[in-house]
Amino acid sequence: MQDKELYQNLLGLRAPWFVSQVDLRMEESKVTVWVEHLSPSTFPCPECGLECSVHDHRRRTWRHLDTCGLVTMIECDVPRINCDAHGVLQARVPWAEPKGRFTVIFEAVAISWLKVAPIGSVAERLGLSWDEAWGIMDRAVRRGLARRDEFPIRELAVDETSFQKRHEYVTVLVDRATGNVIDVLDDRKKSTLKDWLEAHKERLEAVRTITMDMWEPYVTAVMETIDAAET
Ligand SMILES: [Zn+2]
Repeated sequence: MQDKELYQNLLGLRAPWFVSQVDLRMEESKVTVWVEHLSPSTFPCPECGLECSVHDHRRRTWRHLDTCGLVTMIECDVPRINCDAHGVLQARVPWAEPKGRFTVIFEAVAISWLKVAPIGSVAERLGLSWDEAWGIMDRAVRRGLARRDEFPIRELAVDETSFQKRHEYVTVLVDRATGNVIDVLDDRKKSTLKDWLEAHKERLEAVRTITMDMWEPYVTAVMETIDAAET
């Protein structure tokens, strides 16, 4: 079915993750996108990044940005891995923060609006309760504080993602070694990425690989910032 491919692209999913089913309920103005992972797969331990086998799964649901005016939910049986050092832990998923109930992109939009508009108006526009909107802002602030002394980045991935319909782009930075979303930048300009790379030089000292979309501003930003960068 083409709709699976459509949602796969909208969510920017890559192997081992794929859209297995799209469940459209017009009467509820809702679409549920089911995501699964290829099997067998290993996933990095969220604590140490070591590849671990799957222990079991837990069903989780996230709200994503509306698509075609429909409330869009993602459902997935998320694998829990068994790490020798850290025990049974839920694997990270690329579309959401560990305990988030919204996708990273949904939260990024909410946060960008919360910077310029009152919580109540943002909540109303996004179909959230005031508490949910506040929770998104609160987590963003705490993530910002937590980020300062996080581990060095080993495998940086720079991806551009566009919002439905509005054709606005954000830049999503992911550490592929752990699967953690490191940051979401407001646009896909060279200067924005370059500023970020400059500001995080210390954490990037041990970086082994940088993968990115072949978007010229990204390539030049990396070439101009990271000394040993080779294409
Ligand atoms: Zn571990």
